Amino acid sequence: MEEILLGKGVVPGIGIAQVKVLSGDLTIHLNEYSAGTPALESSKLADAVKTAAAELLQLKEAAKADGQASQADIMDAHHAMVTDPGLSASMYGKIDQGVAAPRAAMAAAEEFAAVFDSMPDPYLRERAADVRDVGRRLARLLVGGGQINFALEPVVVCAQDLEPSTAASLPEDRVLGIILGQGSTTSHTVIIAKARGIPAVTGLGEAISRIADSTVVIVDGTHGQVILNPSPARLAEYKDKAEAAAAQKRRDVELSTLAAMTMEGKKIQLAANISSPADMAAGLRQGAEGVGLFRSEFLFLGREVPPSEEEQFAAYREVVERCGNHLCVIRTMDIGGDKPLRYLNINKEDNPFLGWRAIRISLERPELFHAQLKAILRAGVYGKVAIMLPMIISASEIARARECVARAATELAREGKAFAADVPLGIMIETPAAAVTARELAAECDFFSIGTNDLVQYTLAVDRGNPAVSPLYSHFHPAVLKLIDGVVKAGHERGIWVGMCGEMAGDPLAAPLLTAMGFDELSMSAPSIPRVKEVIRKLSHQSAQELLNQALSLKETDAVRSLVEEYREQMLFISR
Ligand code: PEP
Ligand code: MG
Repeated sequence: MEEILLGKGVVPGIGIAQVKVLSGDLTIHLNEYSAGTPALESSKLADAVKTAAAELLQLKEAAKADGQASQADIMDAHHAMVTDPGLSASMYGKIDQGVAAPRAAMAAAEEFAAVFDSMPDPYLRERAADVRDVGRRLARLLVGGGQINFALEPVVVCAQDLEPSTAASLPEDRVLGIILGQGSTTSHTVIIAKARGIPAVTGLGEAISRIADSTVVIVDGTHGQVILNPSPARLAEYKDKAEAAAAQKRRDVELSTLAAMTMEGKKIQLAANISSPADMAAGLRQGAEGVGLFRSEFLFLGREVPPSEEEQFAAYREVVERCGNHLCVIRTMDIGGDKPLRYLNINKEDNPFLGWRAIRISLERPELFHAQLKAILRAGVYGKVAIMLPMIISASEIARARECVARAATELAREGKAFAADVPLGIMIETPAAAVTARELAAECDFFSIGTNDLVQYTLAVDRGNPAVSPLYSHFHPAVLKLIDGVVKAGHERGIWVGMCGEMAGDPLAAPLLTAMGFDELSMSAPSIPRVKEVIRKLSHQSAQELLNQALSLKETDAVRSLVEEYREQMLFISR
């Protein structure tokens, strides 16, 4: 029977496919697993090894075809591990001693990982995380919980919540939609879904637990609807809509070759926000002029040890090279807040968003920061790269970070490794402190990029991930607009360029205001680029300036929103 669920549409578009329920918690499945005889467990393990090997080979080929060489190498290494005779002997040995197959796989992997853990070579030490990952892959296959077989038909992923690291690994060609019980518009999982253009609906609550595997669903990310078991008529209607969306995509391809330029010819650089080298493909497809925000912390998440300098270098180099002549802004790791790291042992904090995060961790854990800075400086040899510091609140943090950059350069010189000597150092303006003292901070750095996701939450004291207060969360609040306007002025007065990389940059409704403020660059999820570009190309300076002056005189968020909506319809002739 057809059923319509209402949630929050967070990534527009339509996806139609069978549901794949993801339940992230492997432990529950392990506890529920009932083991058979050793012979039966051994044969199940043999099947799982075969399936895992085939999956990994397919993932490797897919990554290769997508130009993601480093991911292909990792998949290749995992394939070698899953078929390793030593690991097999250990797993089967444990089953013979009466251990259930999934636990045998994980225990054997853990023993191998412990050996890697104790190796002096940092590269080999990191292989421990890979072996553990392989053990979990086998265990998931055996318990039948949570593993998506991406080699099969396309799916709509359904989960109560999705870890950002899991979301980062979803292949966009085989995941046609995402539906979540939890989630907000600015959680990192949603940001990743956006970057990959996967239609998504969140906030479905408990209803999500009633959705069974293989149910046919329509995900309407534009209207926040999920339709379970659609009738034939509904299915036909949505297939038409999906076709219209595909036609829009084709028009976007045309747009991708045009500049983001106002009617008077003022150009704004539109760049892409990415979380991994894999996101580059979508950005380039939409005509992104470089990367305005590489959330490098995603290289650090979902693993047992931090990535080495070499591993980071490979990832940064890949992105920098793919940016060609354009700039690639790599933000140093923004760990903490909603992105905790197991291996950093961050104490439980009552207010993680106000706690030990981002630049605070980098400055106090120089060994992590040092390896990252070295990797970025080395990547600079292959194109244009910039370093961006997150969560800055004072000039002294920039000065300390600058010293760290100098130390990284000195060490690279001593090691005889090639590196770029004059990499620009910029900061995120995402705290009210930074916005208010922008003039002073501008004297210490080479560029600003405004992070509205955090700036809004800290300015309005509204948690960016809490659905209970989400109606209060808006970048159109007059206080936020005034801060942003002041930051652009301060940066320009000091002669540095000013960009924006928070979600506001990708909001077409905000584009006239941002253009009038004089932004040099706007960086956003790839799918937002054509919509923002379309608006900028219709703008005339005078009308946008008048709009901004009016907006800055208003007292309420709703009044600003109504004003920009009216402008969109009456001046740009774009209907909702
Ligand atoms: C921001 O805060 O606007 C931003 C771009 O950083 P993040 O969303 O990663 O916190
Ligand atoms: Mg931020």
